[in-house]
Amino acid sequence: MTLATDLNEEQALFRDMVRDFAREEVGPIASQIDEEARFPAETLAKMGPLGLLGIPIPEEYEGAGADLLSYQIALEEIAYHCASTALSLAAHTSLCTLPILAFGNEDQKKRYVPDLASGRKLGAFGLTESQAGSDAGATRTRAVRDGKTWILNGSKAYITNASHAATFVVTARTSGRAGRLASAPSSSRAASRGSRWARRRTSSGTARPTRRRSSSRTAACPGRTSSARRGRASGTS
Ligand SMILES: Cc1cc2nc3c(=O)[nH]c(=O)nc-3n(C[C@H](O)[C@H](O)[C@H](O)COP(=O)(O)OP(=O)(O)OC[C@H]3O[C@@H](n4cnc5c(N)ncnc54)[C@H](O)[C@@H]3O)c2cc1C
Repeated sequence: MTLATDLNEEQALFRDMVRDFAREEVGPIASQIDEEARFPAETLAKMGPLGLLGIPIPEEYEGAGADLLSYQIALEEIAYHCASTALSLAAHTSLCTLPILAFGNEDQKKRYVPDLASGRKLGAFGLTESQAGSDAGATRTRAVRDGKTWILNGSKAYITNASHAATFVVTARTSGRAGRLASAPSSSRAASRGSRWARRRTSSGTARPTRRRSSSRTAACPGRTSSARRGRASGTS
């Protein structure tokens, strides 16, 4: 199946931009990052200024404000050259940023989404545990209220982006009863634990954390404003 005939002019331009980016930045190091089992931090850092880390996120949260088809195009173009890099983008967007946007309160959206959508921070999603994968109800991680915060206690595995993510959406149990799960964003204090959780499990979550600044490539995301295009620093922390 091809989507090409269904694209409007803006989407076609966007596809061409992502295609160029993937060919120039993703393809050349795809084999290398697999062989070295390292996280392509430099590639993710370049995606932020292009708007690729917030494609379907509204502009009011510093996203590109583009449609889901554009997001799918980006995944497809990047996956053509490197499936694990595309998975990092998908986990960041679909498993972390979009759930906060869909289920978070306004305070949580304002606090977490702009950094994620702009690429200043990378996101991840922690569901899987040694005994809980398809069977999410078997989750053992606990979330216990401690005043205004929650204390998370548990262990996750196979978490894409874990070694570099600063924001995690984590599933946890809030009561002892089977089937009661909560999901909430947590910040970089959890990220260091997350690094240990998933270290060396996938090529997309194995490297030592590094910080990179932005490239100067011009963004061409459909719906992205010029102010959002201008030189924001990007990096994963
Ligand atoms: C590349 C990659 C990236 C990942 N990234 C993340 C991530 O970012 N965050 C995260 O939380 N997890 C992540 N995971 C983990 C993934 O979500 C789990 O592997 C998945 O949920 C399956 O769980 P499991 O491995 O425990 O397998 P199981 O749930 O034990 O399943 C094993 C087999 O049994 C089958 N099965 C399970 N239940 C049933 C049933 N009721 N009926 C019939 N068949 C069944 C499954 O189809 C499968 O074939 C990632 C995995 C991979 C491979």
